[in-house]
Amino acid sequence: MDKTETGTALDAVFFVLKLAVISIVLTLAAIAISFIGWKLGQTTTKGEAETAGTAPGMFAGGGMRIIVDAGHGGRDGGAVSITGTPEKTLNLEISLTLAELLRAVGFETIETRTTDDVVGGEAPKGSRKLADLKARLDIALANPDAPLVSIHMNKFASPLPKGLQVWYSKNNERSKLLAEYIRKKNVELVQPDNTRDIKPATSAIYLMHRATAPAVTVECGFLSNHEEAALLETKEYRDKLAAMLLGAIAEYHNNVPADDHAEPPQQN
Ligand SMILES: [Zn+2]
Repeated sequence: MDKTETGTALDAVFFVLKLAVISIVLTLAAIAISFIGWKLGQTTTKGEAETAGTAPGMFAGGGMRIIVDAGHGGRDGGAVSITGTPEKTLNLEISLTLAELLRAVGFETIETRTTDDVVGGEAPKGSRKLADLKARLDIALANPDAPLVSIHMNKFASPLPKGLQVWYSKNNERSKLLAEYIRKKNVELVQPDNTRDIKPATSAIYLMHRATAPAVTVECGFLSNHEEAALLETKEYRDKLAAMLLGAIAEYHNNVPADDHAEPPQQN
């Protein structure tokens, strides 16, 4: 075993240890959250609006609600990896794992899609993309207390750019906070050399431009970069990203007072 191998093995050990610590913290948080949720009563959520009797922003059904949005789907494959895998598949796999992890520790999840399909059903040719985005936005607007985490992949003309990048919605000041937790957690657990800053989303990102709750788009990596595309092709790396996102969302949750989750959006 040479130095590099030792380093890699140690990195792996540290990563597992950090995950173990996160998991203990989250378990304790989940117990507390479950208790509060039990006191407030149960609700189930699947792209549905808030149930009467639970105040927005309070723990409903065991925990804070998170919208997990797997980008693209169905005919819309998104970007294609240099290895040929469509973005939609990688987005969905990370999203499904993230949602599963979130539920395991007491969050309620609202998934915009759980299969390889468009959101909101098939629309006439020419309006498919917009219909899909509108359906996602409808889910977001119907759940104004739930932060939205949209999962995507990047692609560039040059194979050089790499690294996870987070965009945040400018409509809610907490979007930036959530984005920063994700950026930091990614550097801490997955990509120590990633120097990409979080960026405000422009009107080009439909959901970010219109969402009123805290909303971020996580471009998990560049499908045009050989090294990163190869990593994203592995379940191990996708699980790592999902675990990292869970840690970041949990930290956001722990640091943002419950009452503030439902802060009215800024008008602009
Ligand atoms: Zn995309």
